Amino acid sequence: MSTLEIRDLHVTVGEREIVKGLSLTLDAGTVAAIMGPNGCGKSTLANAIAGRPGYQITGGSVMINGESLLELPSDERARHGLFLALQQPLDVPGVRPLDMLTAAGATGDVASVMNVEAQRLGLRPELLQRFVNVDLSGGERKRAEIVQLAALRPAVAILDEIDSGLDVDALGAVARRVHEATREWNCAVLAITHFRRLLNELTPDIVYVMTDGAIVASGGMELVDELEANGYEKFRTR
Ligand code: ADP
Ligand code: MG
Repeated sequence: MSTLEIRDLHVTVGEREIVKGLSLTLDAGTVAAIMGPNGCGKSTLANAIAGRPGYQITGGSVMINGESLLELPSDERARHGLFLALQQPLDVPGVRPLDMLTAAGATGDVASVMNVEAQRLGLRPELLQRFVNVDLSGGERKRAEIVQLAALRPAVAILDEIDSGLDVDALGAVARRVHEATREWNCAVLAITHFRRLLNELTPDIVYVMTDGAIVASGGMELVDELEANGYEKFRTR
């Protein structure tokens, strides 16, 4: 049994089908990358798995450790071990990170874990005293998301363009922290990205190419080289 199993998933936004029969499996302690052109449905896939409003699942299944997620509200999905780092992390005025993490099920001395993790990621710990993401820069938000990941220790982490807006040093720190998560608690990581520099540090076990709502190819880092050299044209289905 795989940690994450997505089978023949179909997702509609508004009236349009965006994810069109996507299947993949992800084992504990492994990293899968998804690469695909703008608009092919990567964020829609991530948002639908996380149960965000506005994404209608019209077919297929998503399971974590054999348990179906799709009937559950999004907060329950988090309790079942799913973590999503959004492409555009949201402000949550009025809520502090510590309270949010405790409500989401983080246990132990969450405040000191947050401090340690902020330092590991090169994020000033006092920024985590503010309301969630309020007045943080793009790069600080991304690092704050990884602090949350580390405090929650999810079974499955979906990272939607966690590299966007990060400078080279921050990118390295984030990628190393996520990679260590695969060893520390066997986190299964699904990393959506356009860029090789993240994957150099994250060292994916498999790379998937997504075009037009489905996986159309898979392979190793040589596939990333090919995409960087030649683009997505030969993978487009229409
Ligand atoms: P990617 O992340 O691969 O760039 P997205 O999943 O964000 O692609 O978008 C896929 C398609 O779905 C795009 O055509 C986009 O305009 C559309 N889409 C995504 N989210 C919404 C939304 N909330 N409302 C309307 N259209 C959306
Ligand atoms: Mg996207």
